[in-house]
Amino acid sequence: MIKQDLLEIICCPDCRGELVLNEKESTLTCASCKTVFDVNDGIPILLPKKNG
Ligand SMILES: [Zn+2]
Repeated sequence: MIKQDLLEIICCPDCRGELVLNEKESTLTCASCKTVFDVNDGIPILLPKKNG
């Protein structure tokens, strides 16, 4: 599970948007560009999906 503290300091690597936690699916979704990021053992995998 991700700590709320962590959620407050991380943001979307693509657009710097706010990330919304989906606890059921263990994913983070950007509120701005809707990119979905995986969460691995409580660690968000924040890799930009775009190339360049
Ligand atoms: Zn974004």
